[in-house]
Amino acid sequence: MTTPWVPQETPFQSLDRASVESVEERNRTLLLRKLLSLFLSVTLGVAAIGFGTAVVYRGVIASFGALGFGLLLALLPRLGSRRAGVLCTVWYFVLTLGAIVLGEGIRAVGMVLLPSGILIAALMLPKRVVAPWVAASVAAVTAIGVAKWSHLLASAGEPASLEEVAVAALLLLATGVLIRIVVGNLESMIAKRQRAERALLTSRDELAARHMALQQVNELASRLHRSLDVDEIARQAVEVLVRYSAPSQVGFYLLEEPGDRLLMTAHHGFAEEIRALGEYLPVAGSLSGVAVRERRLVWSEDLARDARVEPSVGAALVASGITAALVIPLAFGNRVLGTVNLLFRDPPTWTDVEMDTFRGIGQAVSLALTNARHVAGLEHQAFHDPLTGLLNRAGFHRELAALVGAAGSPASGMEATAKPGVVLIDLRRFREINDALGHHVGDRLLVALAGRLGRRVGNDGARLFRLGGDEFLLMVPAVADGVAGLERARELLSALSLPYEIDGMSIEVEAAAGVAIFPEHGRDSHELLRCADVAVYRAKRAGSSVELYSPSFDEHTAERLALAGELGKAVREGGLELHYQPKVALADGRVVGFEALVRWRHPRLGLLLPASFLPIAEASDLIHPLTYWVVEKALEQLLRWQREHEELAGARMAVNLSVRNLLDGSCAVRIEEILRRVGVAPASLELELTETAVMSDPEAAVVMLGRITATGARLAIDDFGTGYSSLAYLRRFPVQALKIDRSFVAELAGAESQRSQAIVRSTLYLARSLELTTIAEGVETPDAALRLRDLGCDIAQGDLFARPAAAAELERSLGDRHWKIPLA
Ligand code: C2E
Ligand code: CA
Ligand code: CA
Repeated sequence: MTTPWVPQETPFQSLDRASVESVEERNRTLLLRKLLSLFLSVTLGVAAIGFGTAVVYRGVIASFGALGFGLLLALLPRLGSRRAGVLCTVWYFVLTLGAIVLGEGIRAVGMVLLPSGILIAALMLPKRVVAPWVAASVAAVTAIGVAKWSHLLASAGEPASLEEVAVAALLLLATGVLIRIVVGNLESMIAKRQRAERALLTSRDELAARHMALQQVNELASRLHRSLDVDEIARQAVEVLVRYSAPSQVGFYLLEEPGDRLLMTAHHGFAEEIRALGEYLPVAGSLSGVAVRERRLVWSEDLARDARVEPSVGAALVASGITAALVIPLAFGNRVLGTVNLLFRDPPTWTDVEMDTFRGIGQAVSLALTNARHVAGLEHQAFHDPLTGLLNRAGFHRELAALVGAAGSPASGMEATAKPGVVLIDLRRFREINDALGHHVGDRLLVALAGRLGRRVGNDGARLFRLGGDEFLLMVPAVADGVAGLERARELLSALSLPYEIDGMSIEVEAAAGVAIFPEHGRDSHELLRCADVAVYRAKRAGSSVELYSPSFDEHTAERLALAGELGKAVREGGLELHYQPKVALADGRVVGFEALVRWRHPRLGLLLPASFLPIAEASDLIHPLTYWVVEKALEQLLRWQREHEELAGARMAVNLSVRNLLDGSCAVRIEEILRRVGVAPASLELELTETAVMSDPEAAVVMLGRITATGARLAIDDFGTGYSSLAYLRRFPVQALKIDRSFVAELAGAESQRSQAIVRSTLYLARSLELTTIAEGVETPDAALRLRDLGCDIAQGDLFARPAAAAELERSLGDRHWKIPLA
């Protein structure tokens, strides 16, 4: 209803702006409604009084006149001012005509003329002047009215004069106009309020629908996240979609390499011949193709006429009664994974909420698929050496366990005398080659070595492994005896000794080998490996090149024992040193932290790297005091840096923890003590733990790590990607950062590095989805750094930026550059 003549600014209007939600407001609306009905009754009452007055004091025309105008006023909100104006005019002429016909004369006509004229004028007036006009007429009329009414009352019974009746009519009119204004306002106010209430109700309904949809998506997401099996994920997705939208058929498609067609891997409701027809869909020329190319939901409600549909599939679907299809794309980042196709007999109409839900389900499924593939990739990575493609140390433990399991079983057809054996090969001075010629030469040399060894493996079921660094191992399922084992080792060494041509250089390597035989030297892979290791050590020392393990060699571990004693003394008496390697924000090159790396300045052997003494510390309780010493010294250094260089105010210090540190029940308490004693912010300490350390006993680790993070220190997973990490578990650990292992980083730029790139990319995506900071280690080239930055990695460390060095040296080289190492 529109009331064009109602003044805009009224005292009621402020009510409109108030919130519609509060209880107080609702009460006020009720009150307004009551007022409105009161005003309407008053209007009708006043009209009735006018009618009565006219009947008593004057003839028919005046009374009808008052009645008519009164009714018009009461109906004004329905009629609108323009129609009411026209009706008033018509009514005015009817009355005039009636007065003339009945011969009432000019007095009666005047009685009608005056009030109706004023009313028409009021209805036609522009909005602005209505209020003053009405106020003025009310004031004037009231003044005359009061006088006349008192006279009228005093002379009751006498017929009223023309003026008296006119005044009565005018009073009636003025009241009517006033009431009209009030009623108009109240009505528009109530209408507005009702609209607002209705809007609130619908938005509440929509919110509830959204909430329910979101709950379904979340529930699906958490169910899917527990599954690492692609088929299981597909099955669950189909089930949820059937429940949610009741399509007559559902097809779950995965993109096949090289990406030109989709294969149906799960389905629901298909007749066999239709399923066979739709088993493969081309990416070019199908609805699914449109969905994956444009990465959006595609909806077709008339398959028979949709040009995007593959014609043969479309025809078969339409023939089977399907008329509409919805295609949900599955994609993660910029990688297309597949689609889920829903087919309908009667095309439903979708709400925004439903479309959002389909999108949400698509995203949850995509994340789960990516996670599953990522973990499968990690598993492969866990057992293989990325450089040479050979099985790695973990792979060796797994294979040997399988082999001796078979050898031990009576059903095996092995000769009683032939036993599994291992040949461990270790290069001499490989580190020197690496340092002198660079890592890329070292890497190519290792690949060439692996190739030569591979050609000597033979066809008796032997397998070659790269255990790490420059260590290779041949596992032979059946060797006759130690002599045969030694023979095998010599063959391998002679194959290695010919020069290698790399980058136009001729490089020669020397190697030593140790042989150990199952079960007399070791009853499991670990014992066997230790014996082979001892034999290699012996071979190197004795200059004999190859040795078969003998228990007498173990006496040489006396040397190791002596070293352990010296190390204990060094830990207690300050023989250890710390080097620091800066961590750089890839976005702007700022140094945002350091990793503390321990060194031992040995009186005779010189500066020792962790690899040569940490295993000794880790084999005894020495690792505990060593770790706490590192934490304390590193934090003291950090505090000094934070105070002296404002660029480093927010920098963090990373310290490595060993697995054994987690076994120390008081570890968290000790760390807390040190944090308090040094007085740095706890969050500026970041503890790095390898995946394997955490995964060796995940349940205990969750508890211990929880206690450590309760101190406020942060946790980072070190060497990420080299162990078998279940992301499901990772979510349970209170970690804040992931350090991507340098083996992936080193390969990033290489040509044959597709696999590493894919793993780094999906690791970064998943880390982001778990809100973890990502740190790449071992960054050696600007190319790798730029690639990592473009992939969204946060922080990097490596020789490209700075080698690990003593604090004073870093200050000299970086202090002047304001602790900033730009990428380009
Ligand atoms: P990590 O935690 O992976 O430490 C990084 C290692 O990578 C360091 O070797 C560092 O010198 C080296 N590195 C840094 N940048 C590059 C690069 O661009 N390319 C290559 N190829 N290597 C680079 P470092 O100092 O010999 O330490 C070896 C391992 O010893 C460390 O590996 C860590 O696991 C352990 N470690 C070091 N200090 C401590 C310590 O205080 N406590 C414990 N528990 N372990 C430690
Ligand atoms: Ca580390
Ligand atoms: Ca590392």
